[in-house]
Amino acid sequence: MRDLKLYDLLIIGSGCAGMTAAIYAGRARLSTLVVAGEAWGGQLMLTTEVENFPGFKDGILGAELMTRMREQAGRFGAEFLFRDATSVDFSSRPFRVTAAGKHYDSRAVIIATGASPKWLGVEGEKRFAGKGVSMCSTCDAPLYAGKKAVVVGGGDSAMEEALALAKFAAEVKVLHRRDSLRASKILQERAERDPKISFVWNSVVEEILGRERVEGIRIRRVDTGEESVLECDAVFLAIGRVPNTAIFAGQVELDERGYVVSREMVRTSVDGVFVAGEAADARYRQAIVEAGMGCMAAIEAQRYLETERAREPQIRRLP
Ligand code: NAP
Repeated sequence: MRDLKLYDLLIIGSGCAGMTAAIYAGRARLSTLVVAGEAWGGQLMLTTEVENFPGFKDGILGAELMTRMREQAGRFGAEFLFRDATSVDFSSRPFRVTAAGKHYDSRAVIIATGASPKWLGVEGEKRFAGKGVSMCSTCDAPLYAGKKAVVVGGGDSAMEEALALAKFAAEVKVLHRRDSLRASKILQERAERDPKISFVWNSVVEEILGRERVEGIRIRRVDTGEESVLECDAVFLAIGRVPNTAIFAGQVELDERGYVVSREMVRTSVDGVFVAGEAADARYRQAIVEAGMGCMAAIEAQRYLETERAREPQIRRLP
């Protein structure tokens, strides 16, 4: 079934990027539908305090910030659909997005579907999610005060998780599959200096163990193949993210990791389809950056629509 309305703009995703785009689009008087997803609000909904978003000197809860953005977008006329987009068709105009079995058409689109933390794909991790397995120290570190935690990964996220956890936990082990970190020097040094943090090199998780909650992990050394069990109360996964772009494969150009390839920050390979936020940004991953991209994408969409409208009468006049 097709929604009868032809929107100026469909925004797919409702994190900082999508919400900011919706605010700008509404103020530009574009008829805008945000396909917000069933779990709307993006990654800030999973955090607690956000301390680095300008304008909130005492910090603000992630969910509160997203609620405010949603209300602000609504104030300027954006409509919301709290369903997941299941497919898109950018091969002809108007563009089409399908959600909950219904089609939504628009003249322009902003992809703002963000990214999700990666899972290891080992036995036990899904079963113990929320019961010792976590992706977010900001959310969960206080739960492990005085306990033993393991952080998996060797990048900046892993160092940040370890440092955040070390404020609460009795000990934090960073388990990395190689013998050197990929994290930036400053974070490495901070982690190395922290007396609660130690490193387990050349090792991977084979299984997460426990009865009701995490009680340990079975690990394997990649160089010798030797297996052992590490007792712990929590496992924090910090092995990178995957962009939520599966539905765009074959519709816009994606790179080998699945990120939307962009030109001039927010233009995709399809004229009239723009991208904002972590669906295209693997580098900064900061709420304020994604919000900035949302603003840029909305401005570009507005310019695109103005150019298209200016061309339409001429196109119709052609024999
Ligand atoms: P990342 O840089 O891609 O690091 C992921 C880490 O996980 C790597 O050490 C990788 O090992 C390891 N890994 C990946 N898949 C694995 C698997 N299946 N099993 C075991 N280990 C696995 O991801 P990130 O740390 O999330 O950072 C992403 C981007 O955000 C980076 O550009 C980073 O600089 C940025 N960031 C910046 C900050 C900051 O500046 N404060 C904070 C967080 C993130 P290998 O090293 O062997 O590949």
